[in-house]
Amino acid sequence: MALTGIQILKMLPKTNCGECGIPTCLAFAMKVAAGQSEIGECPYVSDEAKETIGEASAPPIRTIKVGAGDSAFTMGGETCQFRHEKRFENPTGIAVLISTEMSDSDIDGRIARFNDLRIERVGVLMKADLIAVKDAKNDEASFTGLVQNVLDKSDDANLILISDNDKTLAAGAKLCGDRRPILFGANNGNTDAMAALAKDTGLPLAVKGENLDDAIAVSEKLIEAGLKDLAVDTGARTIKAAFEDNVVARRASVNKKYKPLGFPTITFPCEMTGDPLMETMIASVMIAKYAGVVVLSDLQGDTLFPLFLERLNIFTDPQRPMVVKEDIYPINGPDENSPVIITCNFSLTYFIVSGEVEGSKVPSWLLIKDTEGLSVLTAWAAGKFGADLIAQFIKKNGIEEKVKHRELIIPGYLATIKGELEEELPDWTITIGPREAGHLPSYLKEWKPAA
Ligand code: SF4
Repeated sequence: MALTGIQILKMLPKTNCGECGIPTCLAFAMKVAAGQSEIGECPYVSDEAKETIGEASAPPIRTIKVGAGDSAFTMGGETCQFRHEKRFENPTGIAVLISTEMSDSDIDGRIARFNDLRIERVGVLMKADLIAVKDAKNDEASFTGLVQNVLDKSDDANLILISDNDKTLAAGAKLCGDRRPILFGANNGNTDAMAALAKDTGLPLAVKGENLDDAIAVSEKLIEAGLKDLAVDTGARTIKAAFEDNVVARRASVNKKYKPLGFPTITFPCEMTGDPLMETMIASVMIAKYAGVVVLSDLQGDTLFPLFLERLNIFTDPQRPMVVKEDIYPINGPDENSPVIITCNFSLTYFIVSGEVEGSKVPSWLLIKDTEGLSVLTAWAAGKFGADLIAQFIKKNGIEEKVKHRELIIPGYLATIKGELEEELPDWTITIGPREAGHLPSYLKEWKPAA
């Protein structure tokens, strides 16, 4: 049962020292109760209180960490069934499968695409997260060779090691060192051996069920054995079964606090169809409906990019507007004579404006001003995109060193602040740009700096 902020406060030192990064113990307790801070962030809590609060405030779906360093991957930690109730926490991991049965060129191609298919949008790096390495021949030597191959060729791939043989998995895990792979998987026939391996190595272990009931039975045994960091594959290999199992698992864990299913799920669209487009469609359903990881048969830009975007959208906080960083964004290789355009940091505005500027092929400087995610007119009405704030931004952001001219193009909807802005920026000519981003390309093609 979740503890309230007041109950948590009773177990804190109440010295308001601020070392947790929050000014008072009460505010910290409220954040812990809301799942926004971890109790371990207070260095003065007793171990006993940590355990009590940690257990009570733990999310119904356990948070599992894989890998190490900057590329570490986190799954689970979910607290709600529907995104609009709060938010979804940790984006579904996208994995590619390689197996000991594949040819060297197939394997190398998949690893290369894992490394190369990376896209940065709105300051977010979108990429696949894991490589699932499968022991398809029940042969330790070829499996460890394949694991080593992945470790050598990809610096930041997190690994899922797949074998029914605990000794083979142990050998693969040893090679991974501190790159902390997921061990996959414990089934009804090898539960004890896999539990012992997971305990020895301290690595997360995936349950590999024949079906949902079987997965629950294995999960219960592993929990009894003292394991906490689990993931679950219910064995579903059709979209209908996988969808149903994921929904049942999410409902049971979030609404009923049902422990055996309180773990992130690993799903295998790669084993549900041979058609790459159908596989992508299945993966998109799994991303929307609760998968912790989707394992794909291959990575291709045209099918991966839509999955990245879907994931980005679903795992944003619906209570906060999407924003981009306040900055100067060079588009199409601008120089000191290129036009300077300013707009707000609402990411939809950024996407549309930057897309139109990019499409115009006119080298330009796009200035993005922090308006707390509000769109142009709303930000202006809320006093966050006024002449004084724009002027401060222009003076401090360094654009004056990047261009020789002094002409600033403002959104057409801000025409009324032209005079005010000219007073604030006496060295600059303020030009009213188009109202609609769609008119920017023709506008920019005609643009010349004011004399
Ligand atoms: S670090 Fe601990 S004692 Fe200090 S303010 Fe935070 S919760 Fe209170």
